[in-house]
Amino acid sequence: MGDMVVVRREGLYCVPGGFYIDPWRPVDRAVITHAHGDHARYGHGHYLSAAPGVNVLKSRLGEINVQGVEYGETVVHNGVTISLHPAGHVLGSAQVRMECGGEVWVASGDYKVEPDKTCAPFEPVRCDTFITESTFGLPIYRWDPEQQVIDEMNAWWRRNAEEGRCSVVFAYAFGKAQRILSRLDPTIAPIVCHGAVEPLNRVYRAGGVELPDTVMVSEIEKAALRRAIVIAPPSASGSPWMKRFGDYSDSFASGWMLLRGARRRRGVDRGFVLSDHADWPGLMSAIKATEAQKIIVTHGSIPTMVRWLCQNGLDAKGFDTEYGDEEEDEALPPAGAAASKETHQEKGGGTAAGESDA
Ligand SMILES: [Zn+2]
Ligand SMILES: [Zn+2]
Repeated sequence: MGDMVVVRREGLYCVPGGFYIDPWRPVDRAVITHAHGDHARYGHGHYLSAAPGVNVLKSRLGEINVQGVEYGETVVHNGVTISLHPAGHVLGSAQVRMECGGEVWVASGDYKVEPDKTCAPFEPVRCDTFITESTFGLPIYRWDPEQQVIDEMNAWWRRNAEEGRCSVVFAYAFGKAQRILSRLDPTIAPIVCHGAVEPLNRVYRAGGVELPDTVMVSEIEKAALRRAIVIAPPSASGSPWMKRFGDYSDSFASGWMLLRGARRRRGVDRGFVLSDHADWPGLMSAIKATEAQKIIVTHGSIPTMVRWLCQNGLDAKGFDTEYGDEEEDEALPPAGAAASKETHQEKGGGTAAGESDA
């Protein structure tokens, strides 16, 4: 039997099943790993998603023809048994398990192995072939524990509040914002959310995820704003919307904040290294836990990961996909910083080349 999953013009394609996984062009049948824009696009005839992710998909894509399945529940399509398993990335994120003729393939989508209060924890799924992401697939990427980062963030906020200065955190509106929110200390002062963040908060709350109370900027006195923390998408940075916060302190929450260059280019006071993707040890432990002998690497550091895995006795190759990176979009990619990351060099053009912070 040939490869169960191949890359087609439209996206990753399950050959015997006749369906796509996170296709980037419109198709009849799409299995969606999660609702980030580069994985869940408009225009498919039918969407299959993990049940906790259905309302997120609808809030982002409007009325779509979507079927939700519980984690672990099986659906048979053209002789392929499909099931979705938690990826620990954002609410409703899933790995896709496909079984056909005794062979098992798993496509990871985006994932992280560190627990996150806002979504089901990553579940290792045994398989013959594992298609893994590699957004932070370089040995330099190692995250501090979430607790440590959150403690630092709460301490920064408390200090700003004591000094009468508003704190602003730029974070991706879906996933990162709610993860941060779930860990903030609401006893410090009010929590304000941008209009792009609040609708997702509502979906999370409706899905049973506990989040502290939040207010919109229109609902809070100007004096109280000076102690508040504000969660806003990166696109709000430098916009007129920011003017009302006066002399605020700002920060960015992203895995890329590990690199000084990314922080500098953003021009923020603080960088909090917090990612919804696995770091290098996380990727390695996840791959090992699948017990797969064949690994296919997608979006991120494909050549480095493939080389490393082959050196460690695995049969590894890359898949060329059109997935982007929500963390990259949110933090201006460290174009020059990741000199070994070919994709970034291409995207960054010549301007940032030569700057190295890795
Ligand atoms: Zn994602
Ligand atoms: Zn992705």
